[in-house]
Amino acid sequence: MLALQLARLSNQELIACDVHLVEPRPVPGPGLAYTARRPEYLLNVRSQFLSAFPDQPDHFLNWLRVTQSDACENDFCSRQSYGRYLQQLISQVLEWPSSNGIRCKWHNMMAQAVTVAPDGKSAQVKLSSGTEIHSDYVVLALGNFPPPPPTRADLRYLQHPAYHGNPWARGALREIASDDTVLLIGTGLTAIDVLLGLRADGHRGQITVVSGHGRWPLAYQEEPTPYPSFYAQELAGLSRVADVLKIVRRHVQEAQHQGIGWQAVIDSLRPDLGRIWAAWPLVEQARFLRHLAGIWSVVRHRSPPQNAQAVQQMLDAGLVRVERGRVRNIEPEGKGLVVTVQAGTQQLARPLAAQHVINCTGPLLDYSRIQAPLVVSLREAGHLVPDALRLGVMTDEHGALHDAQGNASAVLFTLGPSRRPAYFESTAVPELRSQATELAQELGRRLLKDTGS
Ligand SMILES: Cc1cc2nc3c(=O)[nH]c(=O)nc-3n(C[C@H](O)[C@H](O)[C@H](O)COP(=O)(O)OP(=O)(O)OC[C@H]3O[C@@H](n4cnc5c(N)ncnc54)[C@H](O)[C@@H]3O)c2cc1C
Repeated sequence: MLALQLARLSNQELIACDVHLVEPRPVPGPGLAYTARRPEYLLNVRSQFLSAFPDQPDHFLNWLRVTQSDACENDFCSRQSYGRYLQQLISQVLEWPSSNGIRCKWHNMMAQAVTVAPDGKSAQVKLSSGTEIHSDYVVLALGNFPPPPPTRADLRYLQHPAYHGNPWARGALREIASDDTVLLIGTGLTAIDVLLGLRADGHRGQITVVSGHGRWPLAYQEEPTPYPSFYAQELAGLSRVADVLKIVRRHVQEAQHQGIGWQAVIDSLRPDLGRIWAAWPLVEQARFLRHLAGIWSVVRHRSPPQNAQAVQQMLDAGLVRVERGRVRNIEPEGKGLVVTVQAGTQQLARPLAAQHVINCTGPLLDYSRIQAPLVVSLREAGHLVPDALRLGVMTDEHGALHDAQGNASAVLFTLGPSRRPAYFESTAVPELRSQATELAQELGRRLLKDTGS
């Protein structure tokens, strides 16, 4: 989306330059989320909010109409379709130079390391082929990393064939036979995807799902009535989580009196979530993460109604059962694994055996633990600094990376999930397309300044 936005800037907004897109996947654009090859994996955002361009809200809807690529039950399309949309958009930029003179080139490989020049004004990006690209600006748009191991000690199970550490890996479920027992760790959107995938494959074996809170993401309403925003009047600048919570609760009650669902109140906050988060000092942000982040992920990251229904059917039929508790230990036992789960400090730990264990705990965003060579190279050189709450990386307001001394880089930028310390919600398309637009404009301004235009 950043490349698309750069290509759309006018000649007054940027000076012509080369854009190098480094992406090892077979096609650029869809990334991890929309490379999904399974039609049952649905978008968790309605199509009308998924245009790649904030100023053309119907762009994706029109693309769907013209290409007739998806029936989109209840307005929720497949992630596959969205991947095709992104791929088509980027291929147009790759095929021809843009009218503003931008030439975009795709390097189908990994970036291994970035070395910032001693004057801090440019960088060399080393690719897996050994080629180096010299660039004035480098943007890390790395997305989501596979979930971290669910336990910290005795990690022998990580190498065991029954352990599936990356639920998004190509063919992740292929080894699972239809009668095998399966244990999922987590009850979030990833677990729902896995359940739907298993169901589509005709899986009949017992599925156990382990979760600390035992809650599934709630479903979107079929035809929601919107609730007016109350951010400016009541929430702007509030520095305590408790004060925000109190006001939101009152609005949920008021909405209920008017026959409007709580979902609409949560949705009305969406454009301002970043500002609400940014107004909290670190100690309040930590309080939110400790006490509310779990329930927040259930009410905010909702599931298409048809997905929620399918999961309910599997629960009702006894195909899926939920075990509440934390995973304490995972041990190999023959061809399977034994997962030890503990519900509370007073309760005895329970051993649960399964032929397959799938980690569905969500992406790793703690940049102090990410072992990708590119991230390690930047972290070790002090150019990339994980934030104190381990949500992403430290940046300035434009996404320029802060170094170990807290200085904003003149070369290195980031956008997407890595910017959670700034916005908290920095994952879904509606937030990301705005970040892409703003960063393109900022880079355009800097390019003009560099050339003295
Ligand atoms: C399974 C899943 C489903 C999701 N579903 C939705 C949804 O339905 N709706 C929604 O709004 N959001 C969804 N999201 C959120 C998602 O984060 C964003 O929608 C968006 O796809 C993130 O875009 P991105 O460009 O930041 O990351 P990605 O699209 O993941 O792109 C990052 C790319 O960087 C590449 N890369 C990483 N390291 C290197 C390197 N060293 N060198 C070169 N390339 C590298 C990767 O190959 C990857 O393709 C989902 C996320 C996941 C994980």
